[in-house]
Amino acid sequence: MKYDYLVVGSGLFGAVFAREATNAGKKVLVVDKRANVAGNVYTEKMEGINVHIYGAHIFHTNNKEVWDYVGKYATFNRFTNSPVANYKGELYSLPFNMYTFNKMWGVVTPEEAAAKIEEQKKEAGITEPKNLEEQAISLVGTDIYEKLIKGYTEKQWGRPCTELPAFIIKRLPVRLTFDNNYFNALYQGIPVGGYTKMVENMLEGIEVRLNIDYLENKEELDALADKVIYTGPIDAYFDYQLGNLEYRSVRFETEVLDKPNFQGNAAVNYTDNESPYTRIIEHKWFEFGKDEEGNDLPKTVISKEYSSEWKLGDEPYYPVNDEKNGNLYQQYKALAEKEEKVIFGGRLGEYKYYDMDQVIASALDLCKKEL
Ligand code: FAD
Ligand code: UDP
Repeated sequence: MKYDYLVVGSGLFGAVFAREATNAGKKVLVVDKRANVAGNVYTEKMEGINVHIYGAHIFHTNNKEVWDYVGKYATFNRFTNSPVANYKGELYSLPFNMYTFNKMWGVVTPEEAAAKIEEQKKEAGITEPKNLEEQAISLVGTDIYEKLIKGYTEKQWGRPCTELPAFIIKRLPVRLTFDNNYFNALYQGIPVGGYTKMVENMLEGIEVRLNIDYLENKEELDALADKVIYTGPIDAYFDYQLGNLEYRSVRFETEVLDKPNFQGNAAVNYTDNESPYTRIIEHKWFEFGKDEEGNDLPKTVISKEYSSEWKLGDEPYYPVNDEKNGNLYQQYKALAEKEEKVIFGGRLGEYKYYDMDQVIASALDLCKKEL
């Protein structure tokens, strides 16, 4: 055997494991079926702007160990995510905070906002929220649910809000303060120079082979290493023998526009039911901050995001963590535990709606156990 570990996937999980294993003196080979490293955080330079090719990525965490870890491989800028919601031309601040409540209802004080939410919640008669719709109404009332949540969520997930788990909406903060910071996180930012550079720094000196599909060359690749860290979809590993897990996929329509400023913000969410895309990302505002530097670039790059149900051949982006898929995942997990040589990790390997910091934390945990 030539390698101690074969790492399948050069996304954050694979890159962190490969780095730590190499630092621990192990011999590591990384393979990825894509033509580039970095998985879903891959960024590419267009018109002088780092474009987030697989969807906008904002790093945020409360985990100091993870923040210190990424700090070894990149300098982070001071970007704070504050998306704007566009509902049929009406603009609202996100996440739900005093600016949103003021625009929606004309309320001025936190007491007035809280009373309005309570009144709408009472009218809806919800005591114990059982699904995303009920959870949303209990958190912010019916008006905000109808204008800012229902349309966006149903486009994003392709399912009625009454059939979605409540936890998805709990990702968003609700605040009775004037604060448009989308995340409740102590640390936040975007790596200067792009995520790809950060992952390349993690992988420095490690052998990486691109354009190689592990599942299509499994026997030959398995023979090269003692152990395999697999970060692809768990159901694909088992050739979908128990049926496929459901994922949401996203199609990105990226355009270069001959103007310096298209929407004045990195993210604008289209929260109505009619616009076919969920949101438009204007990549330059992740990097330059809302200042003169961004406007100095004559062009801008935008991506419209269209959400769709995953089918074979599409990129699986979001695991659909509902009960049905949770049960099927447990069955695949039982199969995975019998694979002595293979460890499953990451968003697809564990079928979990992980953020970047959680993926890194999970990889570091594995390193502590394994190395
Ligand atoms: P991936 O990045 O998916 O890496 C898996 C790698 O394995 C890929 O490179 C793939 O090509 C490779 N692979 C798969 N199968 C095979 C095979 N058979 N052979 C070889 N290689 C294979 N998180 C945040 O914290 N903040 C955000 O703002 C944020 N925004 C997001 C937006 C979108 C649209 C999406 C989809 C996710 C977002 N996330 C965000 C989550 C974040 O992308 C993930 O947590 C993280 O990138 C997962 O890393 P990973 O290594 O587990 O998986
Ligand atoms: N959401 C919404 N309106 C918005 C933004 C988000 O209703 O304008 C809901 C939607 O259901 C989404 C969930 O909040 O799936 C979590 O949002 P987040 O931005 O965390 O989703 P991500 O794209 O990061 O997974």
